[in-house]
Amino acid sequence: MIYDTIIVGAGSAGCVLANRLSEDPDHSVLLLEAGPDYRDLNSLPPDVANGYSPTFDHDWGYSSEAGAAGYEPIPLARGKLVGGCSATNATFCLRGAPADYDAWASLGNPGWSFAEVLPFFRKLENDADFKNEWHGRAGPLPIRRYSTSELAPGQQAFLDSCVAAGFSRVDDHNAPGKIGAGPTPMNTVDHVRQSTALTYLAQARSRSNLMVRSRTTVDSILFKGKRATGVRLSGPAGRTISADRVVLAAGAFGSPAILMRTGVGPAGHLRAERGPLRERRGEDLTGHSTGKRGDFAAHPNGGSPLVHVCQVSGRVRSSILRNVNEIGEKRTLPESSGNRLLDARQVFLSAKSA
Ligand SMILES: Cc1cc2nc3c(=O)[nH]c(=O)nc-3n(C[C@H](O)[C@H](O)[C@H](O)COP(=O)(O)OP(=O)(O)OC[C@H]3O[C@@H](n4cnc5c(N)ncnc54)[C@H](O)[C@@H]3O)c2cc1C
Repeated sequence: MIYDTIIVGAGSAGCVLANRLSEDPDHSVLLLEAGPDYRDLNSLPPDVANGYSPTFDHDWGYSSEAGAAGYEPIPLARGKLVGGCSATNATFCLRGAPADYDAWASLGNPGWSFAEVLPFFRKLENDADFKNEWHGRAGPLPIRRYSTSELAPGQQAFLDSCVAAGFSRVDDHNAPGKIGAGPTPMNTVDHVRQSTALTYLAQARSRSNLMVRSRTTVDSILFKGKRATGVRLSGPAGRTISADRVVLAAGAFGSPAILMRTGVGPAGHLRAERGPLRERRGEDLTGHSTGKRGDFAAHPNGGSPLVHVCQVSGRVRSSILRNVNEIGEKRTLPESSGNRLLDARQVFLSAKSA
């Protein structure tokens, strides 16, 4: 059989694509995933279901090379199961800063301004807390924020400290222009991590034109000239599957690896590592690194991570960083360019103080 589309990787992106592409009953879709498939909530291992803590038990086991970025090797967690990292991650459902989307669009990326991506943010979500022009109520992904009564004492203290330090209390960090401290929008609902497997893919599984094959690792892409015609699977048999279109959604580490095994990638590296070079393509990718196990403290009332988000403007940034350093781990995002300070979004997991 020749599929209309093969999607490689059933992660955050792959499950969404599988749903959307198979809406057309005449379009056949094969979704390939290296990890296992837990088809519903009942069959999910408890650590995958529990959205209050990241899980590392369904993981590719990557780590950085010693010395990279001046550090000891750090674990680079990547979910290996249907749902991908959305089935293992921390479920912060936080939009980027509008100015960043506008900056991408102004660099020559049509469709990426905040005004243009907003309809898609609205479409993907079912926001339980806000009903206004910034939010959707009919999307597959449920989103909610912790109410004041659900906060642990440490969380409340953190929030109070931010307000005392001069930050506004912000109840909705997904609305544009909000700078301050407040609860994180999350896609954990009733303790369950709402992965794209449990949301987007679950809604599409019964379609006869959608096939999901788990525990199937793709080695490389097949090409006829410059056109992708299918995939080759890993394993001694090297089975091939044909398709009119191949969508690579194997993640920040998986997709480049498949491309490089295909002969598409940085020319020097490919020449050194393997045979013929098909095409030179980009390098310098970055991904989401992670903390160690146990970085998230248990919530006394139910195990929620202690999380607050500040969008901090340049003027007051250093003072909040100093304060926050004392009560927890900090992670910062690089400022975008030059002296221009965007609404740098600081995510503090003040776990160790709980
Ligand atoms: C621990 C952790 C916590 C995070 N927390 C958050 C958060 O709170 N909020 C947030 O917005 N983002 C968070 N992220 C980031 C976010 O989860 C990822 O950016 C996002 O899931 C990436 O989606 P993706 O579809 O590109 O890749 P993935 O979701 O990684 O999907 C790729 C899929 O492809 C499969 N695959 C890879 N190679 C092959 C192959 N050769 N053959 C077949 N299948 C293959 C993988 O097994 C995987 O299922 C977190 C990430 C991690 C690791």
